[in-house]
Amino acid sequence: MDFTQLLNEFAEARENGFITTKELKDQGKKVIGVYCGFAPWEIITASGAMAAWLCGMSAETIPYAEKHLPANLCPLIKSSYGFAVADKCPYFYFSDMLIGETTCDGKKKMYEFLSDFKPMHIMHLPQNPNAPNSFKYYRSEMVKLKEVIEKQLDVEITDEDIRDRIKIRNRERKALRSFYEIGKLSPPPIRGFDLRRVIQATLFISDKEKEIERIEKLTRDIMEDYEKNGSQVPLSAKRILVTGSPLGDATENIIKIIEENGGVVVCFEMCSSIKDKEEQVREDGDPFDALTERYLKSGCACMSPNNHRMNMISDYIDEYKIDGVIDITLQSCHTYNMEGDRVKHTVNEKGKPYLHLETDYSQETIGQLTTRISAFIEML
Ligand code: SF4
Ligand code: SF4
Repeated sequence: MDFTQLLNEFAEARENGFITTKELKDQGKKVIGVYCGFAPWEIITASGAMAAWLCGMSAETIPYAEKHLPANLCPLIKSSYGFAVADKCPYFYFSDMLIGETTCDGKKKMYEFLSDFKPMHIMHLPQNPNAPNSFKYYRSEMVKLKEVIEKQLDVEITDEDIRDRIKIRNRERKALRSFYEIGKLSPPPIRGFDLRRVIQATLFISDKEKEIERIEKLTRDIMEDYEKNGSQVPLSAKRILVTGSPLGDATENIIKIIEENGGVVVCFEMCSSIKDKEEQVREDGDPFDALTERYLKSGCACMSPNNHRMNMISDYIDEYKIDGVIDITLQSCHTYNMEGDRVKHTVNEKGKPYLHLETDYSQETIGQLTTRISAFIEML
């Protein structure tokens, strides 16, 4: 296939991300480490710093964390903390400061502890995305973040700088959205495993102009190949929407299991996936107002009520012609686990079957997951 090389280049960009970060650091670039979709990339990069996604998706570092943190925490929190205490995350090592957000309880306490290692700023989030005071409160947190970064890195961030970053991020969202939307085709041109691999890699590409150009080329090449040669995905593959807690390297095996058992993942409704690319940030007017409006629509389960997520799932079921929904939540992730019942209701109301899976980063449950997933797909 013509586009395979480009697909592999994205995987390589991901693998080489830390080398690029080191080179930028050696050239004097500042690095700000982030953990969550609520970190406003536009403000961070308007400072001239690079926003680096910190590691937290591997079982390997959990034992280090469990020396300090309770074992019954979500693996994402333990893994993130383990990477930091064991000094195993190069992005953490290169970070000049860290940004956390008060999303779930475990994470916010973990951020508190991380301030022993690096300068840490914690953004306080409102809990209700629609309450009248939430906008004002969150906007003030955006302004505070700008001021903290200015002080910490000794830089000035102007509104114009932020507007420029809003524009480039919007272009990135648009390009990624078009890439994602190839999943609407029947059969889809590529498997969800490859689609996700590309999206994950983009998090580690700091040169956004280059990334946008490559994503647009990849989408074009895939479409040309599809029109000429069709797809390797059989038309009979059951179209799956995957939702839930953020998926990491350790949990992406689940995508493989789905696709090796008669399914194809055509849509991911989770952090850094399609829902993150849906809404653009307004480019006119006050940039803090625009960012606040946009980030309040993240659809994360830490918000209550989180109707926006239910509406998105409902729309995606139609747009991506979904046969069944698999909701993957991490163990001890109370927000996503609790919301599972609402998701089930939303999915069933659309007349579609729903499967809830709870997992951690260990490989011990793979056998059991395979049995449940293959049975689910078989009955679709
Ligand atoms: S799911 Fe929510 S809390 Fe977790 S990383 Fe995404 S936005 Fe942050
Ligand atoms: S997966 Fe759930 S519990 Fe873990 S950090 Fe994210 S929201 Fe918190």
